[in-house]
Amino acid sequence: MAFRTIIEPFRIKSIETIKTTTPEERRKAIAAAGYNVFLLPAADVLIDLLTDSGTGAMSSAQWGALLQGDESYAGSRSFYRFRDAVKDLTGFQHIIPTHQGRAAERILFHTILGRGDVVPNNNHFDTTRANIEVEGAEARDLVIAEGRVPSLLHPFKGNIDLAALEESLVKDGDRIPVVMVTVTNNSGGGQPVSLENLRGVRALCDRFMKPFFLDACRFAENAYFIKLREKGQAHRTPKEIAQEMFSLADGCTMSAKKDGLANIGGFLAMNDDAWAEEARNLLILTEGFPTYGGLAGYDLEAIARGLEEVVEEPYLHYRIRSIEYLAEKLESGGVPMIRPPGGHAVYLDARALLPHIPPLQYPGIALVNALYEVAGVRGVEIGTVMFGLHPDGSEHPGPMDLVRLAFPRRVYTQSHVDYVAEAVLEVARNAAALPGYRITEAPRALRHFTARFQPLGS
Ligand SMILES: *Cc1c(COP(=O)(O)O)cnc(C)c1O
Repeated sequence: MAFRTIIEPFRIKSIETIKTTTPEERRKAIAAAGYNVFLLPAADVLIDLLTDSGTGAMSSAQWGALLQGDESYAGSRSFYRFRDAVKDLTGFQHIIPTHQGRAAERILFHTILGRGDVVPNNNHFDTTRANIEVEGAEARDLVIAEGRVPSLLHPFKGNIDLAALEESLVKDGDRIPVVMVTVTNNSGGGQPVSLENLRGVRALCDRFMKPFFLDACRFAENAYFIKLREKGQAHRTPKEIAQEMFSLADGCTMSAKKDGLANIGGFLAMNDDAWAEEARNLLILTEGFPTYGGLAGYDLEAIARGLEEVVEEPYLHYRIRSIEYLAEKLESGGVPMIRPPGGHAVYLDARALLPHIPPLQYPGIALVNALYEVAGVRGVEIGTVMFGLHPDGSEHPGPMDLVRLAFPRRVYTQSHVDYVAEAVLEVARNAAALPGYRITEAPRALRHFTARFQPLGS
């Protein structure tokens, strides 16, 4: 007989106490943080869903591997272990470790981009966009139309619009040094990309002789969605599917803080010898020698082991199901969100939940702050604050105003998820009373990290 309850496929070996605070304490804390949850001390947060980046729990095997770390400056044994694990998965020739994903992005884009160049992608993640724009190039988002409508159901809402990509390649081909696809599509709701779509990108890149890179941060979650949803894939292992995804590309950028199941790290991988040589030279300048790239030997060990564990099916089953379980609870309470839910997070549609707050009064910030004040749950705005700033400093509504509740890997249990559901439903009941916000100070780029706000009418 098959049991229906999906349990956490691990048991707890070590625990970390989380602190309960009163609503009054939280109101004070969020005011002191300029109404920006990035500026809160994490100790004042009960359930931290700010990000799934670097926040996962390592396994006892990973902690054990740390002790095997070889801290030799050059040619460390841990590097070869790391390189072999990445190669086994991706098949790429050149494996360049970096301290996290954005370092891989910066090195890649600084190596290959010039002013006026264009990089197509389904949706660029915020650091990806910023690292392209800082080179004077354009980050062009070409996700399928369904991917831009939160309520619309589609099994692969992360797919890139192949016709729009072809049009870009025809019109701007001479300015496109690389085509990218982000798996899963974080900024578009953690939505997966199908193998069929990746094959379509490959065919276009072959026709126009362009290299194709994956932003591979959540490759394992994407592979599991392919197994669940794409015709003819159900019998394959997530690892086999991931290997095929990588085989369709010429390289990737990766944050090991996501599907590397590590607390820090990343890599840039590719087949092109000339690009790899230039990238390594830049790496030496800013990250470190090519066999450690800004990481300790023990980090390389943890990532090598993490890349094996992340494609295990019981883990992916629990992971994807936890998110879906939260989404089901919220949906039955009528909370608007991106549907179907993504792989690492539930994305609440703050613009739809708070129609009385216009985008330039930041409905996402209003919802994030209410969740913190009411329940000590920390989410993050993915909307007008994050994406509503032109490089010239002017403001416009972001494509959507979302609040992402991202789950750290292997950290929270079902009762934590139940608590979060209760909190969101409570805030949603009182949505009409929430105030909008204005910015009191903000930097010119990536402003969401450090901007300060004031509630309107206070
Ligand atoms: C997190 C992330 C990055 C950047 O990686 P960091 O390790 O945070 O620098 C790039 N792309 C996507 C899709 C991501 O989720």
